[in-house]
Amino acid sequence: MLTARNVTKNYSNLQVLKGVDISVSKGEIVAIVGSSGAGKSTLLHILGTLDSPTNGEIFINNVQTSGLTGTRLADFRNRHIGFIFQFHHLLPEFTALENVCIPGYIAGTRKSAVKERAAFLLDTLGLKDRLEHRPKELSGGEQQRVAVARALINNPDVIMADEPTGNLDSHNARELHQLFLQLRDQFEQTFIIVTHNEELATLSDRQLVMKDGKIVS
Ligand code: ADP
Ligand code: ADP
Repeated sequence: MLTARNVTKNYSNLQVLKGVDISVSKGEIVAIVGSSGAGKSTLLHILGTLDSPTNGEIFINNVQTSGLTGTRLADFRNRHIGFIFQFHHLLPEFTALENVCIPGYIAGTRKSAVKERAAFLLDTLGLKDRLEHRPKELSGGEQQRVAVARALINNPDVIMADEPTGNLDSHNARELHQLFLQLRDQFEQTFIIVTHNEELATLSDRQLVMKDGKIVS
């Protein structure tokens, strides 16, 4: 579903990625682990088309994303990739339902269909009674689950998560882990997750260990 070949990234004369090869299958949860500064976030951002590689190729469902630019890239990213970050980045003035709908509206999907799917996803994630709440009226765990629903709204090929449990207590972190497993089993959802959380890494289907710009195991 996703293939990266010989991806490198240079910042001026610092080589941060030194030739990374990855292939990820549909429905797989892949954790990227390793010490701080190893290049994990840089790799995730490049796989997610938020940043471009210096060299190398990336294919997501046979589309060479490293060949896309401008509005075509933005459109591809919005439709095909979901993002979850350490902080939820929900828009404070919108309700949970509206926050989840926004990427669907941007994709140009019929409004009624977007709303119906958003409500279905929030229900699936245990937030049936929170549709009209604004982010500040939700607990931290609930806010992050709204962010997960938002990441899922356009039925993305892959969800890229950068330290998704980094701002959650252990109880909410564990609930989010279970949710990822549920989404994998229920929808064959693919995840690539950068995490320092050992439990989340262990629950994943595969762990890629990065060291000094390379995958070492
Ligand atoms: P990790 O996520 O594993 O902690 P990062 O991908 O954040 O690692 O960073 C890898 C290396 O790249 C670090 O040495 C970091 O300082 C450097 N780096 C990251 N982003 C930039 C940037 N925009 N400009 C220069 N150096 C960067
Ligand atoms: P936590 O124990 O995770 O910190 P909170 O005490 O923040 O949770 O919230 C408990 C419940 O109360 C949550 O389900 C949340 O939806 C609800 N809630 C919190 N603040 C508000 C508010 N201002 N308006 C409506 N509901 C709220």
